[in-house]
Amino acid sequence: MSTYLEKAQRVVVKIGSALLTDSETGKLNRAWLHALVEDVARMRARGQEMLIVSSGAISLGRRALKLPVGKLKLEESQAAAAVGQIGLAHAFQENLSSFGISCAQILLTLEDTEERRRYLNARSTIQTLLKLGAVPVINENDTVATSEIRYGDNDRLAARVASMVSADCLVLLSDVDGLYTAPPHLPGAEHLPEVAEITPEIEAMAGDAASIYSRGGMKTKIAAARIATEGGARMAIANGRGLNPLKAIEEGARCTWFNAPSTPIAARKRWISGSLKSLGTICIDDGAVKALLQGRSLLPAGITDVQGEFSRGDAITVRDMHGHEIGRGLSAYDSHDARIIKGHSSREIEQLLGYSGRAEMIHRDDLVLKKP
Ligand code: GLU
Repeated sequence: MSTYLEKAQRVVVKIGSALLTDSETGKLNRAWLHALVEDVARMRARGQEMLIVSSGAISLGRRALKLPVGKLKLEESQAAAAVGQIGLAHAFQENLSSFGISCAQILLTLEDTEERRRYLNARSTIQTLLKLGAVPVINENDTVATSEIRYGDNDRLAARVASMVSADCLVLLSDVDGLYTAPPHLPGAEHLPEVAEITPEIEAMAGDAASIYSRGGMKTKIAAARIATEGGARMAIANGRGLNPLKAIEEGARCTWFNAPSTPIAARKRWISGSLKSLGTICIDDGAVKALLQGRSLLPAGITDVQGEFSRGDAITVRDMHGHEIGRGLSAYDSHDARIIKGHSSREIEQLLGYSGRAEMIHRDDLVLKKP
């Protein structure tokens, strides 16, 4: 199990506020952060793609604004996040750059991960950053997220990010070393090193307790495990208290791993082909059919007809000239724009639409071919 982290390709690490800031003073734990970034840099040097989801904006901002201890009003926590996020991003930037790594800040709201059009934008920006070698540092956009439209906890946000970017591993670093069969202070409580499947019994083991700084208790961690594993990522709950917590996991520190039933690619393909309703159809010529069968993306040039009304990010059906279904995919353009660019070369898109969109009508990662 200690090799799970080492073998992962794309890893999301979630850091709880209780680790990053001192619970008494609210001050940033600088030595801890530096050691964590050292772990991240080492993993990146090994060829792994790393993303960080970090909490701590509210607790840093609360200190700067001298807000009282205890529960904050929504607008106070939004104000605290606005102040604290600057310091948080700066601390990551400083540490990552000391290892020669570019740091990218991404603030997401619930809608960015739930609404398909925005989801595709966030996904492709993150993919581009990873390709360019940057480490995205992600948090919820607390300053604009109101109670109805927010995650509120970064456990579930991190899990959505993991499935959004098809990560194969998510590590939740917090102040607990995993899941126990009963509250850990009770006699007979046993630690579970591995959870094969999230059953109702597993869910029942999660109590409610959360510290004052981290919102997510074990319940949200199990909810996160459900989201992440369904997206094809294996997830760990680990104690991040010591320095270099990722190295500690690799060296066998106690934690709980949740197994994923499939890979991120298979999970994404299932989502596209199975759970999304197709809202339109595009017909393509024989050359395009050949290209798709060779694993390439669908370019506007190969489109002969566009049927139905759909938005960017919607699932659409792809048919050949005889009406046979070739597959399904997520459209990079809405039906109106698709009708304008159909049959044209990707170089002409900007001139035709007045903006430079994507070169592909359906990117190959967003396409699932029908089995012959
Ligand atoms: N987004 C919040 C912050 O940065 C943290 C939420 C959480 O603790 O999970 O302060």
